[in-house]
Amino acid sequence: MTGFDVTGVSKSQCVCEPEEFESESTQSQLVEDHEAHVLVAEWRLHKFQSPIELKHEESISHDHFEPLDFHGHWDKLGEATFENTGKTAVIRFQRDELPYLRGGPLHEDTYVFEQLHFHWSDDDNSGCEHIFEGQAFSMEAHAVHYNNKYASFQEAQDKPDGLAVVGFFLEATDNADNPCFKKLTAAVQHIIKVNTLTSVAADCLTWIREEAQCKGYYTYQGSLTTEPYLESVTWILYPTPIHVSRQQVAHFRELKSTPCEKVKIVNNVRPLQTPPSHKKLNILYARSHRKSFD
Ligand SMILES: [Zn+2]
Repeated sequence: MTGFDVTGVSKSQCVCEPEEFESESTQSQLVEDHEAHVLVAEWRLHKFQSPIELKHEESISHDHFEPLDFHGHWDKLGEATFENTGKTAVIRFQRDELPYLRGGPLHEDTYVFEQLHFHWSDDDNSGCEHIFEGQAFSMEAHAVHYNNKYASFQEAQDKPDGLAVVGFFLEATDNADNPCFKKLTAAVQHIIKVNTLTSVAADCLTWIREEAQCKGYYTYQGSLTTEPYLESVTWILYPTPIHVSRQQVAHFRELKSTPCEKVKIVNNVRPLQTPPSHKKLNILYARSHRKSFD
């Protein structure tokens, strides 16, 4: 399966969508902003276990977020490493200033990049954690950030506003390798053994750039999908998958999970979680951005 047309918005329109508020008066804008603020304040109180299935018709379109800004994620600065932890493959940066996220559903806070890791399974049709409109993908990448009002990821991870995780789907196709993803698939072949680490190009996240600049993302309040499953995550999920080749995904299945090297990491996906019936599932869809008046 390729694109998604549930929103009636194609990928190219999504990036270039015109602002919708230019003709509105400041007064009506303030009322709308207040209502939107109340909605978001309430929304932040409802946390769920993750992952969940995302359905567009069950989400609330929201036009009042500031633009979600990625700072430095694909810059060629400092150094980066790629590590086989025995459970996943993890990218970390060593820089004077780590990449950070601002805007969108994150209020006035700044969230600092901690690491990016991957989920995959033993086939190309089930390696993601979140499901979108009944569709699964080959892999899911999670860019984990922590709120910089806390001193570290460890301190932030159990706070309600502690973490922001940006999720990207990867879909294996019969087409050629994704050239931007090649830096990682070359490096992953050097970390086959558990607890090994290699250096990787500092600009190894260029493959997320196009999706990350798109306005159409889903956001909800959820949890870590690995132990201890803390409900401290603002999830930001881009529904359009990034295409890679089948071989590029297959490289990840070669990673060993044990020192004896008999066991490979072939499924690190948490099953879908069902929200309790008394809790209303609150997924917002950031359709467009609020016009900035300052
Ligand atoms: Zn994850």
